[in-house]
Amino acid sequence: MPLQDDTKKQLSNALKARKVLEDTYEAQFKILAQFVARLSLACKGVDVELDNRLAKLRTELNRGTDLEKLLPFIEGTSETLKQFEAKHQTDVQKVQQGLTDAGKLLQKQKGLPDQLRRDLRDLLTKVETPSATVHAFLPHINNLTELYQQALQAKQQLTGDNADDDRYSHTCRKISIELTNLLSELAFADDCATEMDKIRVSLLGNLTIDVLLEACLKTISIIITSINQERQSAEHFLLKLNDALSSVQQAVVSSLNTSSELQEKMLVLNQQIEQQITHLGAASQRATSLEQLKALVSDKLSAIANSMRAKDKLEQQDRQSLLSTLDSMEARLNELEADALTFKKRISDQNFRSLQDALTGIANRAAFDERYQLEIKRAQRYNKPLCVALADIDHFKSINDNYGHSAGDKTLQVIAKALKLHLRETDFIARYGGEEFIILFPESELSEVEAPLNMLREKIRKIPFKFKNVSVPITISFGATQFSSNDTSRSAFDRADEALYEAKKSGRDKVILKPAK
Ligand code: GH3
Ligand code: MG
Ligand code: MG
Repeated sequence: MPLQDDTKKQLSNALKARKVLEDTYEAQFKILAQFVARLSLACKGVDVELDNRLAKLRTELNRGTDLEKLLPFIEGTSETLKQFEAKHQTDVQKVQQGLTDAGKLLQKQKGLPDQLRRDLRDLLTKVETPSATVHAFLPHINNLTELYQQALQAKQQLTGDNADDDRYSHTCRKISIELTNLLSELAFADDCATEMDKIRVSLLGNLTIDVLLEACLKTISIIITSINQERQSAEHFLLKLNDALSSVQQAVVSSLNTSSELQEKMLVLNQQIEQQITHLGAASQRATSLEQLKALVSDKLSAIANSMRAKDKLEQQDRQSLLSTLDSMEARLNELEADALTFKKRISDQNFRSLQDALTGIANRAAFDERYQLEIKRAQRYNKPLCVALADIDHFKSINDNYGHSAGDKTLQVIAKALKLHLRETDFIARYGGEEFIILFPESELSEVEAPLNMLREKIRKIPFKFKNVSVPITISFGATQFSSNDTSRSAFDRADEALYEAKKSGRDKVILKPAK
C-alpha cells in the first residue's frame, strides 16, 4: 500500500476516533448540562443571586455555549456559592439557637403539665446535636410547635379555672351577705348570741369556701342547739303543768272523799240529835215529877249539846280540809303563773330580738320588710305620700381594712345611733345589712325628704371619728324615691337603689333623689 494511502487511512481513522470522542463528550456534556440544570432547579429558592446565576447557567448550557466561555461565569457562581455556604452555616446556627431559646422560654412557664415538661427537655437535648443543614431541625421545629400548642391549651384551661375561681368567690361573697342578714334576723340569747357574733365576724375576714362552709355548719349547729334548749324548756314547763294539774286533781278528789266521809258522819249525828229530841219528847210525857223532868231534860240536853259539838267539830274539819286544799291549789297555781310569765316574756323578748339588729340595736331587715308593707298599705288607703331612702357608708371596707373589724363595728353602731337620733319619731330606720341602712318617710313628698337627708349626711360627716389617734372623717351616700301608685314594694326599692348608685358614681357623700316616672 502506498504511503499516501496509508496516511490517509490513518487520518481517517483518527478523524473517526475523534468524532466518536467528540460525540461521547457532547453526549456527556449534554447529560452534565441537564444534571446541572436539574440541580440548579433543585437549589432554586435558597438565594436570589444564586437563583439568577443558575438560571443564566441553565440557559447557556441549553444553548450549548462553549464551556470555555462559561468558565469565568462558573467561577463567579462558585464564589456566590461559597458565600451562600457561609451564610447557610450561620443560618443553621441561628435556627439551632432560636430553637434552644424558644424551648427554654417555654420551660420557664409556670403550670406546664409534667409530660410536656419531660418532652420539652428531650427536645432540647436533641436540638443540642450539631447539624450541617437546616433540614435536620425541621422535625424539632415541628415538635416545638406542638409543645407550644399544648402549653397554650393548658394555660387556657388554667385561665378557665381562674374564671371559675372568680365565680366561686363572687358566690361566696353573695352567700356570706345572705348568711349575715339571716344571722341578724335570728334571735339568740347568751352563749348562742356570742357564738353567732363570732360567726358574723369570721364572715367579714378573708372569705374562703372553707370559712363560709364552717360558718354555715356552725350556724346550723347553733340553731339546733337552741331549738333543743327551747324544746327542753317547753317540755319542762309542760311537765310542771302536768304535775300541778295532777296534784290539783288529787287534792280535789281527797277533799271530796273527806267531805263525803264527814257528810256521812254528819248524817249520823243529825239522826242522833233527832232521836235524842224524840226521846226527850217521849220521856217528858212520861215524867211524873218536876224533878224527874228536870233531870231528864238536863240529861238529854247535854247529850244533844255533845252531838251538836261533835257536829260543829265535823263541820270545822270539813271547812279546814277544804281550806287547806284551796291553799295548796292556790300555791300550785301561783307557781304555774310565774312559769307562764317567764315563758311569755321569753317569747316576747324573742319576738323583739328577731326584729332588732344585734349589733346596732336598731330595727333589722325583717322589721323593715314588715313595716314597709304596712306603710305602703297605709299610704295607699289614705292616699298619702311615702318616701323610701337607702343609705350606704362610703368606703367602709377601708375602715375594716385599715383599723380592724371592731373599729368597723363601732363605726356602724355610732352611725346607726346618729341616724336614728336625727330622724323624726314617725320616720322608720332599719339596718338593711352590712353598712347599708334604709329609711321610711311616711306622709312625706320627695321634695320634703331632701333637706332631712342632707342634714343626716352632714351630721355623719361631722362625727369626729378617731382610729389609732388619727381623725378619720366618714361620709355616707343616700338614694331616695317616692312610692307611686304604679310601684310595687320592690320597684320603689330598686329605684332608691339606683339613686344610691348614682350618688356613689357621682363622688359619694351625696343625696340623690329619683322620682317615679
Ligand atoms: P362604697 O363607697 O362603694 O360603698 O364602698 P364600700 O367599701 O363601703 O363598699 P363595699 O360593699 O365594697 O364594702 C362594704 C364592707 O362592709 C365590706 C364588709 O367587710 C363590711 N361590713 C359589712 N358588714 C359589716 C359588719 O357588720 N361589721 C364590719 N366591721 N364590717 C362590715
Ligand atoms: Mg354597700
Ligand atoms: Mg359602702
